[in-house]
Amino acid sequence: MVSASSTPLGPPSAPVSGRFLRRAAGLATVGVALAACGSGGTTGATAGVNYPTQTITIVVPFSAGGPTDTVTRLVAEPMSKSLGQQVIVQNVEGAGGTLGAGEVASAKADGYKLLLHHIGMSTAPALYANLPYKPLEDFKTIGLVTEVPMTIIGKSDLAPNTLAELVAYAKANKATITYANAGVGAASQLCGLLIEKAFGVDLTEVAYKGTGPAMTDLVGGQVDFMCDQTTNTTPQIKAGKVKVYAVTTAERVKSLPDVPTTTEAGLPDLKVGVWHGLYAPKGTDDAVIKKLTDALAAALKDPKVIAKMADLGSAPVAADQVTPAAHTKLLTAQLDLWGPVIKNAGVKTS
Ligand code: ASP
Repeated sequence: MVSASSTPLGPPSAPVSGRFLRRAAGLATVGVALAACGSGGTTGATAGVNYPTQTITIVVPFSAGGPTDTVTRLVAEPMSKSLGQQVIVQNVEGAGGTLGAGEVASAKADGYKLLLHHIGMSTAPALYANLPYKPLEDFKTIGLVTEVPMTIIGKSDLAPNTLAELVAYAKANKATITYANAGVGAASQLCGLLIEKAFGVDLTEVAYKGTGPAMTDLVGGQVDFMCDQTTNTTPQIKAGKVKVYAVTTAERVKSLPDVPTTTEAGLPDLKVGVWHGLYAPKGTDDAVIKKLTDALAAALKDPKVIAKMADLGSAPVAADQVTPAAHTKLLTAQLDLWGPVIKNAGVKTS
């Protein structure tokens, strides 16, 4: 349970839109690392020439079948083709994404264990007193991947039919209404904070290891509502298995044209979108990072990836955002943005 604070949460200008990502371009590239790579002192040049010679694992810090998993699997296949090695996905779930991120932070810096994470990379430091990694110091950024709107959805027989009705219902039923999320540090938890502030209610949160399993329970009617990426919610919305109240972006989402924005529905401050980025452990050779950035950039140009993302309400980031510099710039800005918002909300875990 989280208390809403009197300080505004989630400024309407929260930099989560495509415009923001495109503005983030233009930094100089990161410096050249001279350190030997983790695999027994191989020099940078040698590591870059030989890489990759074995299967690459991308850790998803949430459950299989959820939105982060979906995005990762979408890019893993074409990356595998261009790198000439299998790229597999491993779900290391729990603690709002921090377990998986922590595992990659301490992995061998050889380019064979990567992390695909989301906005949670920028919220966890303010949420966890003892986070076992520092986002900017313990990882190398590879590039931004996509940004995904969120949707506020409810179980199919939840009484309210509009966002305004949901606010009234949540207030009238605050002792019993339940909100599903993917744990402290998840995007769904961040959206829950914004909902608490915008609705003026404290939520009873039910935490899952990802919004894949949360969706199963929502469809089954075991929880009342949640806020999650369109990459997870679109199929269920279209199949009529959940009710949808609003999208949390400034503009309507093309693939869900009938769904109002939170602004249209009367809650303009309830805005958040989920950006995803690919990371390697710090110390990974820059020549290896370059190969991964190039493979990611190629994957994001794949027409099948673009079409599938569009079906799910998303799109690859602009090409100039698929760089370590753009990624680091956005991560830095998002750490600065969400840190104070979360501190003001009074959320802290150990
Ligand atoms: N959408 C989830 C979140 O709330 C994570 C996931 O399962 O991908 O962060």
